[in-house]
Amino acid sequence: YELSYYDVRSVMRDTVTLLEAQAILHNIAIETDLGRDTLWIYGVENQIKQVFINVIKNAIEAMIDGGAIRIQMGREDDSVRIRISDEGPGIKEAQLAKMGQPFYTTKEKGTGLGLMVSYKIVDNHQGRIDVYSQLGAGTTFEISLPFRYPEA
Ligand code: ADP
Ligand code: MG
Repeated sequence: YELSYYDVRSVMRDTVTLLEAQAILHNIAIETDLGRDTLWIYGVENQIKQVFINVIKNAIEAMIDGGAIRIQMGREDDSVRIRISDEGPGIKEAQLAKMGQPFYTTKEKGTGLGLMVSYKIVDNHQGRIDVYSQLGAGTTFEISLPFRYPEA
């Protein structure tokens, strides 16, 4: 595994490019506000990309009637904060607690592994994932990672 310092905005740009066709196919627009600051983090770039793919794919899969996915990134103190919001059906309180447990899925062909892997990766990067959801309105995944300026 390749550890490095990198701008996590470029990882998000690549991820959005990767998933844009799939989103359009489902009548979903991906709107991004990645800010102007370079968002330095330290870790395994491909793993963080996998987290973004997992969360955005879940958002696409949740929005069966189309809509918008909003992605916002910025620096807040010593953290890089990444918010991925969808306009899906939201998640019931009882389900929220089960998310991220291995094999928990509500999908016919789901694996229930995407979030478990994502939590593990973010935890390994000294970060955290918080989920905010409102039934009938949508869900926001908030990923926080330590801001780490490259050492000279
Ligand atoms: P899978 O996508 O294979 O079901 P995940 O671990 O990625 O497995 O997600 C687990 C479950 O969490 C999903 O089946 C779904 O019920 C719920 N979930 C995840 N993201 C969202 C979301 N954005 N909106 C609604 N439910 C979600
Ligand atoms: Mg998934």
